Amino acid sequence: MKFSKLADYFEKLESETKRNELIQILSEVFVNSDANEIDKICYLIQGRVVPFFDSTEIGMAEKTVEQAIALAYVIDREKVAKLAEKTGDQGLAAQKLNSELKHAPGSAAFADAKVKNSDVSVSDVHEVLLKIAQTNGEGSVEKKISQFADILKKVNPAGAKHLVRVPLGLTRLGIGDPTVLDALSTAKVKDKSLRKNLEEAYNKTSDLGFVAKVFWEKGIKAIDQVELQVGKPMRPALAERLPDAEAVVKRMGDSFAVEPKFDGFRCQVHIDGDKIRIFSRNLEDFTNSFPDLVQGSKEEIEAKSVILEGEAIAYNPVTGEFLPFQETTKRRRKYGVAEAAEKMPLKLFCFDLLYLNGKDITKLSYEERRRKLKDIIRDDSVTVMEAIGKIAHSAGDLTTQFEEAITEGLEGVMIKKLDSPYQAGARNFNWIKFKRMIGGELSDTVDCVVLGYIFGTGKRTNFGVGGLLVGVYNDKEDTFESISRIGTGLTDDEWRKVKEMADKNKLDHKSARVNSLITPSVWVEPEIVLEIFADEITRSPLHTAGKKDDEPGYALRFPRLVSFRGSSKRAEDATTVKEIEQMYKAQFKHLKS
Ligand code: ATP
Repeated sequence: MKFSKLADYFEKLESETKRNELIQILSEVFVNSDANEIDKICYLIQGRVVPFFDSTEIGMAEKTVEQAIALAYVIDREKVAKLAEKTGDQGLAAQKLNSELKHAPGSAAFADAKVKNSDVSVSDVHEVLLKIAQTNGEGSVEKKISQFADILKKVNPAGAKHLVRVPLGLTRLGIGDPTVLDALSTAKVKDKSLRKNLEEAYNKTSDLGFVAKVFWEKGIKAIDQVELQVGKPMRPALAERLPDAEAVVKRMGDSFAVEPKFDGFRCQVHIDGDKIRIFSRNLEDFTNSFPDLVQGSKEEIEAKSVILEGEAIAYNPVTGEFLPFQETTKRRRKYGVAEAAEKMPLKLFCFDLLYLNGKDITKLSYEERRRKLKDIIRDDSVTVMEAIGKIAHSAGDLTTQFEEAITEGLEGVMIKKLDSPYQAGARNFNWIKFKRMIGGELSDTVDCVVLGYIFGTGKRTNFGVGGLLVGVYNDKEDTFESISRIGTGLTDDEWRKVKEMADKNKLDHKSARVNSLITPSVWVEPEIVLEIFADEITRSPLHTAGKKDDEPGYALRFPRLVSFRGSSKRAEDATTVKEIEQMYKAQFKHLKS
């Protein structure tokens, strides 16, 4: 496919406000793509050239992109900067400059720039972008600029706009991974029936391009055989909630594992001989941030190839005491790594083994996987430890272990079904999280996504934001449904921070993935995740979370901000509507007991 044709599709996708239409347009893109380019198209849809867990970056920021635009369209840099300011972003500026050249074929600039519209294919553009990403060392800035300028000349105006947005991370097509999977299925069989199969393959590899390519080249049978791969992070298995110990026993029967619930951050360790990679809960590559865990994994795990999961906690190297979560998260940094590792070393409490010596072992039972995990961790290890659980047989056992965990300062316990496989990306009752209850209030926070903001009045006019419209995730529909307006509970600094973040994600229309009856002053791309604590979940006709026909939706009572989730959670990792429904029901059980 020609890149300019893809860019024309991007224009349509960008202005679309209905999700079903997004799926139709995208499936048309896929119908018109071949197996050699479909993976690249998937990455470009996400505004990237490689899967998101791959840390390869194009390495061009605003200033260098500006220079490339100036070079391509033979115009002063200052003029590019002014135009970008006027139009809103450099992509729009490039689009305008490109179209002006196109419409003035006699002009000197046109002749000089040798604009050859619409010639290059998606694969050509992708190859150049990858090459730019791999250009390093002396003179690399100039090389990047000239390569980027060269390709900018060979695309149409829409192509210039979308191309410029890739290195700047400004691609805003509003398309989530499940929507891409729905579109892939629609492209092949005209409905969404294969989404589940595609999703399973995606959950095991987190690589949309890879899944699309396998599907295009080898069909659905090959998709069903996709297994975990060392080096590609799997989407983590997640836990359900239950209101009390009796409910757990009812679900789990008379034998289940109870593990301490460590309060650190989740890590996925991939080992292939000497090569070690560590991914976060959010599948970001954090290998370079955790040299102590890399070293520990090298020395203390005895196996050729491994994928294991654990929770990392920082400790005080002098006293040996574990540090609270707020301290531990300071290790998730890109700079000052060595110093932080010395001051706050990590221990990894491993709770699952998914891949061993060339084999995906997720289908084995929890008990078997744990036995293998125990076998590969050295007895004298000091960094990579086994998260030791106990078997419980009754509600009484569970309560005792839970209380012990709380006394030790832990957050609670994780309960695991003994005969369960590991299901990447699934949230089900194979795992149950059991956390401290705080009075009669909700025992858990809710991760909400900012959908828009409302202009402020009074003192807030200074910040330009007086309220936030937030929502939760409907993972079936790949949409965000409103659940609350937040107008209090943020400090002045937090209001400023949220406004700044929201403005980076500003949209001129509602995203096709947002479902809301309330129209905020400004819509934003659903990307910012906030951890919210509320007194209660109530029903409200104003909100769309869980709303069915005439029934009201769910809402948060007295919501207040606990934390900015930052990059630790993507919007699709926010609390789901299904979880909200369960939390709502659990409240009643709690009140009754
Ligand atoms: P979730 O990961 O379910 O979306 P969350 O990120 O808000 O939710 P919690 O609800 O507190 O986290 O609980 C799940 C998390 O607990 C896991 O993702 C993992 O990071 C952590 N955890 C700590 N100890 C364990 C353990 N023994 N087994 C599994 N997970 C554990």
